[in-house]
Amino acid sequence: MKSLSERVEQLAPSGIRRFFDLAGSMEDVISLGVGEPDFVTPWNVREASFAALEQGYTAYSANAGLVELRQEIRNYMHEKFAIEYQVEDEIIVTTGASEGLDLAFRTLINPGDEIIVVEPAFVSYAPLIELAGGIPVAAACRPEDGFAILPETIEAKITARTKAIIFCFPSNPTGSVMTRDQLADLALLANKHDLYVISDEIYAELSYEEEATCFATLPGMRERTIVINGFSKAFAMTGWRLGFTCAPKEITECMLKVHQYGMMCAPTLVQFAGIEALRSRHKTVPDMVRSYRQRRNYFVKALNEAGLPTHSPGGAFYAFPYIGDTGLTSEAFAEQLLLAERVAVVPGSVFGASGEGYVRASYASSIEQLQEAIHRISRFMQQLEQRTAV
Ligand code: PMP
Repeated sequence: MKSLSERVEQLAPSGIRRFFDLAGSMEDVISLGVGEPDFVTPWNVREASFAALEQGYTAYSANAGLVELRQEIRNYMHEKFAIEYQVEDEIIVTTGASEGLDLAFRTLINPGDEIIVVEPAFVSYAPLIELAGGIPVAAACRPEDGFAILPETIEAKITARTKAIIFCFPSNPTGSVMTRDQLADLALLANKHDLYVISDEIYAELSYEEEATCFATLPGMRERTIVINGFSKAFAMTGWRLGFTCAPKEITECMLKVHQYGMMCAPTLVQFAGIEALRSRHKTVPDMVRSYRQRRNYFVKALNEAGLPTHSPGGAFYAFPYIGDTGLTSEAFAEQLLLAERVAVVPGSVFGASGEGYVRASYASSIEQLQEAIHRISRFMQQLEQRTAV
């Protein structure tokens, strides 16, 4: 048989998968591993797709998505961030933010182009860059900066081949949020070095201290930014696979080519649900945000009390406790915690080398589950202490 694609064969399998498989084979596991809301999609949103099905909307939509949904996305971006995108040629409805990321990389990258990835980062960025023929270059956030990225850290990584920067604030996995002023420094850098920016804003609604900034609203940035967003997190719609991109016309035209050949369109029924999700957001999202904030407050305090120093995440639904004092690698910590106490967390190292020394624990679980998890984690920490004392 002839060989398969070298590029694909050389990709490392996702480090998260191994833990899911292990956790899946065990009973009574509390999973703080997955990056998804514990809410079910609001009922009115589900109903909108039943209605669309009843009315027989079972055909393809326009490649870029239903016009009504693109109009809602336009209104949303305008209302939330005071930025204007054209419904006709600057918005694409995608099958999840995941597809939006793929479109962005494939549209920007020529073979050998370098993309600076702000780390710790979502696990898909580097493999998607490699699949598109690019080279991911890590720029590490430091805990002492609250996991914000410093412009000088990025600048040190820029070469003649650098094409773009990708980041996500509020962050998966650290939960950190960069202020508008901090992001403005990155905008200066993008202008100075003529770089594109891929701003993954999938957690923009889940920001607990201050409103998240849309990077494209910074001076000069609308022209060089691809905004990636989606319905999975804010609207508890991970399984529906619905997202969108906002980018200037020239970039959107290219991304649309990739989308129309590779995907045709996002599922039509799901797009009807998306329209309702955006229209009803003021009724549904605030309750979920309030609940995440309460759980964050409880969980971060409890982790600190259990002996795991944890900064207070300003957004998303992840805590990123420091486990370095235990003397274990993040992978060993996660594995031993799972085997000894049946609590699943994700080793920080899967989010890039700078995630070593940390684990990611999602607090999108019920308070009762979080309390039980803390109980087990505390017991695990005591066992570790006893072990080192012997
Ligand atoms: N970006 C980030 C930072 C994420 O955490 C996720 C989901 N875990 C995605 C993108 C992909 O989201 P979607 O479900 O919309 O494809």
